[in-house]
Amino acid sequence: MDLFEYKNNELYCEDVPLASIAQAIGTPCYVYSSTTFKQHLEDLEQAWEGTPHLTCYSVKVASNLALLKIVAARNLGADIVSGGELFRALKAGIEPSKIVYSGVGKTASEMAEALEASILMFNVESAAELELLAKIAADKNLTAPISLRVNPDVDPKTHPYVATGLKESKFGVPAAEALELYSLASQTPSLRPVGLDCHIGSQLVSVEPFREAASILKDLILRLRQSSIPITFLDLGGGLGINYFQEKPPTPAQYAGALKEVLSGMPDLTVITEPGRVVAGNSAVLLTKVLYLKQTQAKSFVIIDGALNDLIRPSLYGSYHAIGLVKSNDGPLSPVDVVGPVCESGDFLAKDRPLPPVAAGEFLAVRSAGAYGFSMSSNYNSRPRAAEVLVSGNSFEVIRNRESYQDLIRGE
Ligand SMILES: *Cc1c(COP(=O)(O)O)cnc(C)c1O
Repeated sequence: MDLFEYKNNELYCEDVPLASIAQAIGTPCYVYSSTTFKQHLEDLEQAWEGTPHLTCYSVKVASNLALLKIVAARNLGADIVSGGELFRALKAGIEPSKIVYSGVGKTASEMAEALEASILMFNVESAAELELLAKIAADKNLTAPISLRVNPDVDPKTHPYVATGLKESKFGVPAAEALELYSLASQTPSLRPVGLDCHIGSQLVSVEPFREAASILKDLILRLRQSSIPITFLDLGGGLGINYFQEKPPTPAQYAGALKEVLSGMPDLTVITEPGRVVAGNSAVLLTKVLYLKQTQAKSFVIIDGALNDLIRPSLYGSYHAIGLVKSNDGPLSPVDVVGPVCESGDFLAKDRPLPPVAAGEFLAVRSAGAYGFSMSSNYNSRPRAAEVLVSGNSFEVIRNRESYQDLIRGE
């Protein structure tokens, strides 16, 4: 579901014509639909109703404070992967007791900050990390609540860069090693095992890999409980896919339904999930302007003012993003490459994409750009990063100013 729809051949975000946003604040800019973002959170809450659960929004996916405040206002939690994300989450008012901290490379100072903030738990990804965390907690006279991120060696059948639960991946520890580490942790006074965690990948379009992983983790919990290690949180990570093109991902209800089935008969367990893409992905577009049309012997190019520094997913993963004219027309479709100004042949947002006729000065909306869009953007080619705009009903506000040239050289 998303609230980017055509009315009289004009593309709207909720009740605001995208053209009016482009005219008011310029392009490129990210435009988020707050109602869509909220609805996606709501759908997940409904899907888990009746099961003790905590939704921890994955901050890295779209990290603007205005979005995190929506999460905080609903009393939901956050999944963070850095000290910077902890800072953002706390600033936005997310309760520390609802924050889980994932990632293979937490530094000593990041651990200290999270300990001082009293987060819910550290998702520990190696023996060496566990050792350092124990030491830092002991030095501070604190106890670190931990869960181990287990790598269940399940194939999520997704892009290799976002498959994280195969045994070749850098993430987590093998199930066999986890048992030893839990036993070590339970004998370490500065550590308190409270959960078990996994995150097998992103953009999953079937429930099967989730089911498989959950069942491996369930067995582990039973074994841990037998060894008197009382695990109360089962963190199943994020990963639920969205529709970019013709994918048919499970609905939140189907996803939660399948997992509830696997976990039935597990009392005293709170299920944590870390959804990101499914919340933010279809909640935003990247709004751009056509600069030039360029015809070569081989190709037709539509050159726009958005580029790989604004949205890297097509270049990085070969991802598909639907592209729509902000003022649609029913002229004949012909294939074009939609490219940006950046000096790389990898700078494209679409290749051989059938589009109706489009002219310089027109606006294009790159759809499904809310997840891993702005948050992965950069200043490459000394391009100021795009503005971000949040729409609610018939009004919009700038939630991040377009960067200035001064911003570009800050700190140099
Ligand atoms: C990136 C990430 C997520 C979010 O994944 P989505 O596919 O966007 O839902 C959740 N948990 C961890 C540990 C992650 O690294």
